[in-house]
Amino acid sequence: TVRTRFAPSPTGYLHIGGARTALFSYLFARRHGGEFVLRVEDTDRERSNPESVNAILEGMTWLGLDYDEGPFYQTERMDRYREVIDRLLAEDKAYYCYATREELDALREAQMKRGEKPRYDRRYRDFTGTPPEGIKPVVRFKNPLDGLVVVEDAIRGRVTFRNDELDDLIIARGDGTPTYNLTVVVDDMDMQITHVVRGDDHLNNTPRQINLYRALGVEPPSFAHLPMIHGPDGAKLSKRHGAVSVVQYRNDGFLPEALLNYLVRLGWSHGDEEIFSRAELVQLFDLVDVNHSASSINPEKLRWLNQHYMRELPVADVAAELRWHLGHLGIDPDEDGPKPAAIVPAYVDRVHTLVEMAEEAQPFYQDVVEPDPKAMEKLDASAAMVVDALIVALEDESVWESSETLESTVKGVAKTLDLKLGKVGPVLRLALLGHTSSPSFGVILELMGRVRSHQRLNAFRD
Ligand code: GLU
Repeated sequence: TVRTRFAPSPTGYLHIGGARTALFSYLFARRHGGEFVLRVEDTDRERSNPESVNAILEGMTWLGLDYDEGPFYQTERMDRYREVIDRLLAEDKAYYCYATREELDALREAQMKRGEKPRYDRRYRDFTGTPPEGIKPVVRFKNPLDGLVVVEDAIRGRVTFRNDELDDLIIARGDGTPTYNLTVVVDDMDMQITHVVRGDDHLNNTPRQINLYRALGVEPPSFAHLPMIHGPDGAKLSKRHGAVSVVQYRNDGFLPEALLNYLVRLGWSHGDEEIFSRAELVQLFDLVDVNHSASSINPEKLRWLNQHYMRELPVADVAAELRWHLGHLGIDPDEDGPKPAAIVPAYVDRVHTLVEMAEEAQPFYQDVVEPDPKAMEKLDASAAMVVDALIVALEDESVWESSETLESTVKGVAKTLDLKLGKVGPVLRLALLGHTSSPSFGVILELMGRVRSHQRLNAFRD
């Protein structure tokens, strides 16, 4: 069976690069009927924190990236790493290195002076003498001295490394704690991972890890290194490009379906299509279709996709997310005002995010609105007459039958007064919503309801 994993280091939020890695790894497993494992790489105790673990778990849940096993925590596996380090030492595949920082600095300086690439010179590899006192040695792996390491990358194809270019990797620090390259190999081996999908910032670690697998007598997994994600300006993605954490995308009013669809298109494509449901992705996704070059975020496309999913998903699902955003504005739609499910169809063509929708919907839940003074200045003397006529016309209970009857009532008012609709509309909208851009008269009246509409029109007149 195919087994993949997502192995985040909990040192910050789940950013979109990480989420995309998780998604590709998840999709590859699902596509092949395999298993997807979550492993939290928290051995760096200073930089790891529980809030970040929560943010990662929350982000994955929200995106629906369900895992079959885990979360495993590396800090709970320290004994196992120690066991493997001791085994490598015992089998003479690793050694203690007593070089001091000063010594290594001097070495590096000398190498640079000679125009060489700074590299550990394996000075303790064959050391048999008495260890210097007072030094806590690191443990280094005996990397093969010659030959090639070939990475058959599922995305990039064959990448070859020369062993004499790789130095003897530190696998345990002076305090005995294991390093990333050791823990990742032990875990991927123990967890029987068949395909490692990760960012290509790890490509240079891969030949070292392959050598470690071989030293441990196991076949390395397959690898797929994902190209980077850039900002729209072509620079490496960073905070200054706006929202980068998955949780922030939720706060900004995006649906998980939209973000998922957006993420998969950061690097993967299938013909010219843009819209992919999760079920389609599970059917279609393959690593060979991942681009070789970096992809750029495109905030407009995400907004477009989000509107698409607000239209296409069951209204109840979108309404549930809208309810959450209304809550952020201090609105409880159960107390008073229209149901969120009624807002969605009325506003979906006018907005691109749920935050925008919640903001547009806000006046329906407020007791009073403050009409926009700039728009008020544009009204002329007919406004007073219009308000009075609207109040009278909307008095009649039968006109509240539907948005259509309400719509024709408002149009009837314009006709009776012999005014253009352009003189009536702004008055109604300012009175009800405080601004002049909205869906049709019938729809906003229906959403506002009879009682509140009258209160607004009366307040506007006074
Ligand atoms: N913990 C590593 C990171 O977050 C991932 C390592 C891997 O996928 O092999 O960069």
